[in-house]
Amino acid sequence: MIVTDTHTHLYSEAFDADREEVIKNAMDGGIERFFIPAIDSTYTEAMFQLRDAHPETIFLMMGLHPTHVKENYTDELQHVEEMLSEHTFYAVGEIGIDLYWDKTFLEQQREAFRFQIQRAKKYKLPIVIHCRDAFDEIFEVLESEKDDDLFGIFHCFTGSLEQARKAISYNMKLGIGGVVTFKNGKIDTFLKEIPLEHIVLETDSPYLAPVPYRGKRNESAYLIKVLEKLSEIYGTSKEKIAEITTENSKEVFGI
Ligand SMILES: [Zn+2]
Repeated sequence: MIVTDTHTHLYSEAFDADREEVIKNAMDGGIERFFIPAIDSTYTEAMFQLRDAHPETIFLMMGLHPTHVKENYTDELQHVEEMLSEHTFYAVGEIGIDLYWDKTFLEQQREAFRFQIQRAKKYKLPIVIHCRDAFDEIFEVLESEKDDDLFGIFHCFTGSLEQARKAISYNMKLGIGGVVTFKNGKIDTFLKEIPLEHIVLETDSPYLAPVPYRGKRNESAYLIKVLEKLSEIYGTSKEKIAEITTENSKEVFGI
């Protein structure tokens, strides 16, 4: 069984004390592929170090996270552009719009999202979308950018069935993680309506640990709990779900 964690911030300070152990624990549980979303330029060096230590299992993305779109966002976007032109990345992410924390930079977030989608298309890369309290705004941008080169993952999908179908209509897979195990997470009530070919697995670690670790630091090894929940929802073995979702991740990332 090979499980793919399509979204983990393994370079985060939260793993500074035991990063290698966290990776080993995950590998022991069959989680063998890690896709690493970017946040901003301050983490780029740490991401490269991580990749250099695990070139067979760690795959990097490049992008500017919407909550990090601030006064200096044009410099940050230039960094994204430079990195994309000089190094190998497997997606542009995580990018999008987040209106939960702060609406001050909505216009800049929108502009950064569109700019990065266009870079992804230029390099034929998927996008990895971060959406919080911003489905309408995100869909509006996707609608105007929709074409054969637009594809990717709607990371940490927490919307409705209708929004899930809409995301899929823009060639997006749904990133499913710890939220599916939450009592008030809602997506477990309709996920069965979405065929497994549209699903990829993710932790978003160190955030969003699944039950029974909810509230604690999340790590890739806990993806087994998400796998167990999906196995229950779809009435399919964990092995089969691991196989299909890993295939889906290969289709998106090209590796
Ligand atoms: Zn993330």
